[in-house]
Amino acid sequence: MSVLIYIDQADGHIKKASYEVLSYGAKIAEQLGTTAEGVVLGKVQDDLAGLGKYGVKKIHQVTNDNLAHLDGQVYAKVIAQVAEKTGAKVIVFSNNVDGKAIAPRLSAKLKAGLVTGAMALPDTSNGFSVKKTVFSGKAFANVAINSDVKIIALNPNAFQVTEGAGTAEVVAFDAAVDAPKVKVTATNKVTGEVPLSEAEVVVSGGRGMKGPENWGMLEELAHLLGAALACSRPVADAHWRPHHEHVGQTGLAIAPNLYIAVGISGAIQHLAGVNRSKVIVVINKDPEAPFFKAADYGIVGDAFEVLPKIIDAVKKL
Ligand code: FAD
Repeated sequence: MSVLIYIDQADGHIKKASYEVLSYGAKIAEQLGTTAEGVVLGKVQDDLAGLGKYGVKKIHQVTNDNLAHLDGQVYAKVIAQVAEKTGAKVIVFSNNVDGKAIAPRLSAKLKAGLVTGAMALPDTSNGFSVKKTVFSGKAFANVAINSDVKIIALNPNAFQVTEGAGTAEVVAFDAAVDAPKVKVTATNKVTGEVPLSEAEVVVSGGRGMKGPENWGMLEELAHLLGAALACSRPVADAHWRPHHEHVGQTGLAIAPNLYIAVGISGAIQHLAGVNRSKVIVVINKDPEAPFFKAADYGIVGDAFEVLPKIIDAVKKL
C-alpha cells in the first residue's frame, strides 16, 4: 500500500502545482504510516531524483511517444497500471487541467471515490474524509470516501510546500500506452512573459479600463512585477484581450500569490476563478464594488490616476 502522486510536467519542466501535491501526498503517507511514490509521464529535463526532498521515495516514469500531449483517456489508463502495480490506496492530483482531465477517468477505471477541490489533509480519525470547496469557493464540505482506493485532487495554493532532505529513486515503468484517439495536429504557444496558470503574480483588468488602448499601463506594471496578465470575461468577449487571459468560472481558474484586479467589479463568476489567490488587491473607483469584500487590500480610486502612481513607486524599489 502506498500513496501515489501524479507529478505534472510541461515541456520537460515540473509544474509549480506538483510541489504542492508532492508535499501533500507525502503528508498523507505519513498520516497512514506508508510511503509516498510519484508517477510522471513523459521525458523530463528537471532533476526528478531531487523531488525526494518533498518526501517522495520512488518515482515511476513512463516515456512513450503516445504521451506527447495530455490525453485524459490515455494518461488515466497508464496511471491505473502504475497504481495497480504499486498497490496505491490513495492517489493525489492537482485540481488543475491535468488533474481534471485524468482524475475522473481514473476514478471510473479503478472504481475509486474521488474528491476534487480538496483544501486540506484528509481526516483519518474516523474513516477518511476530505474538506473541499463547493459553490465556486463560497462554502466548504467534508466528504467521506468509502472506497478501497481513494483519489484526491488538491486545489492549487491550498497546501504549503515543505522541503526536507532526500532523493527519490527514479525507475522506468513499462506500461501499455494506447495511441490517443484525438490527434494534436498543431499547438500554438502563448507568448507571454509568464504563463498565466503558473504565475505567482497576476495583473488583471476589467471593463473599468475602458478599452484595449489603455492596457499599456497594465502591461508595464505586469512587466515590472514579473507578472502575467489576465482579464474579466467581458474584456475578452469584446476582443480587448485574447480569450486565454480570461479568468473566472468560464475561464481559467488561477491561484497566484498576488492578484491585482483593476476596474473589475468582482462578480461571483469572476471570483470563482481567482478567489484562491493568496493576496487580492482591488483597484476600483466604486467603494461599493463587490470585489472589495474579497480583497485583502483595496484602493478606492480611478485606475487612470492610481496605476501611474503604483508604476512609479514600483520603479523606485
Ligand atoms: P463590470 O461589471 O462592467 O465592472 C467594471 C468595474 O470597473 C466596476 O466595478 C466599476 O466601478 C469599475 N470602474 C469603472 N471605471 C473605473 C476606473 N476608471 N477606475 C477604476 N475602476 C473603474 N466574468 C468573468 O470575469 N469571468 C468569467 O469566467 C465569467 N463567467 C460567467 C459565466 C456566466 C454563466 C455568466 C452569466 C457570467 C459570467 N461572467 C464572467 C460575467 C460576470 O457576471 C460579470 O459580468 C463580469 O465579471 C464583469 O466584468 P467587469 O468587472 O470587467 O465589468
